[in-house]
Amino acid sequence: MAQRDYYEILGVSRNAGAEELKKAYRTLAFKYHPDKNRDDKEAEEKFKEVTEAYEILSDPQKRAQYDQFGAEAFKYAGAGAGARGFGFGGIDLEEALRAFREAFEGESPFGDFFGFGDMFGTSTRSRRGKRRGRDLELSMEISFKDAAFGIKRTVKLLRYETCEVCNGSGAKPGTSKVTCPQCDGTGKVVTGTGFFNISRSCSRCQGEGEIIKTPCKNCRGEGRIKKERKIEISIPAGIESNTRLRISGEGEMPPRGGIRGDLYILIYVKQHEIFQREGNDIICYVPITFVQAALGDEITVPTLEGKVKMKIPSSTQSGKIFRLRGKGIADMHGYGRGDELVRIIVEIPAKLTTKQKHLLKEFAEAGGEMTPGVKSFMEKVKKLFM
Ligand SMILES: [Zn+2]
Ligand SMILES: [Zn+2]
Repeated sequence: MAQRDYYEILGVSRNAGAEELKKAYRTLAFKYHPDKNRDDKEAEEKFKEVTEAYEILSDPQKRAQYDQFGAEAFKYAGAGAGARGFGFGGIDLEEALRAFREAFEGESPFGDFFGFGDMFGTSTRSRRGKRRGRDLELSMEISFKDAAFGIKRTVKLLRYETCEVCNGSGAKPGTSKVTCPQCDGTGKVVTGTGFFNISRSCSRCQGEGEIIKTPCKNCRGEGRIKKERKIEISIPAGIESNTRLRISGEGEMPPRGGIRGDLYILIYVKQHEIFQREGNDIICYVPITFVQAALGDEITVPTLEGKVKMKIPSSTQSGKIFRLRGKGIADMHGYGRGDELVRIIVEIPAKLTTKQKHLLKEFAEAGGEMTPGVKSFMEKVKKLFM
């Protein structure tokens, strides 16, 4: 099958330097990252494609092979080299996500992207080839107000933690692991193929190079044990409903040491009784009487931080919107705060007393200008039937 050129995929020239490659990859990986493109298969494919291209071209040795032999080099190696082979079309999503994390290790690739950069890949724990524990996911419901201002929440997790008895090794204390006899401690079994060597993980030790002779009794040699943990998470101000927060490195430990998976928290925001959200603005419908609308008044309006007084000018029409600047929701990316839009609904009394009816009749007889909406509507109707 014809494959697109790796340089073409990343949109760089054949003599692009490391910085340029990374920059190109960063742009494309962010664009197609699954966190941004939920349930979008096409984006996922693109993400895998650009990651694969970057994996090959950012490695000087692989790049040289690619430049010399092209796709064939990796087609061959990929066939038998397992998950780390990066053969053409051989990279799966999990592998791509891991490669992505490793590419930006120690940086905050999403820093100005999701607005909570400090939650991403700031540790230096992950090293190529290290096993990674399972990701955990939970969901959480928060109030409208907490979403607007952000909140710290403590969550309880039952997750695999490092076994304290054996310190995660899986070996009974006092005993130690022994060198794997099958691979001589290299963790790999290499077979030559002429052109390239195919290197496979050792099946006896699963690539660890060591095997446990006497397993730890506490964890039965697993090096980890399920425990309840409480962790505090910061939910950023301005978060919207159905946002999936990633908290890096708070997932599970893999067996016998390695790096933790991530924790995902799906945030649901409860509806508010009074406010509706539109972007970073909040909308509040405020009913007033037709007398207040006609004569003007000072009314009390709720905001997220308490009540405020607001002047309604005379002749205020129903549907009129007043803007309370900066009374909306904080932008999650730090771009200030939205406004509160107060939308006026003019109401007519449901019941009138005899005296009120009398007064209104008098009002009508007093004449005066027709209301602006009525006037313009009558004119349109007149035109229509001319
Ligand atoms: Zn143990
Ligand atoms: Zn081995």
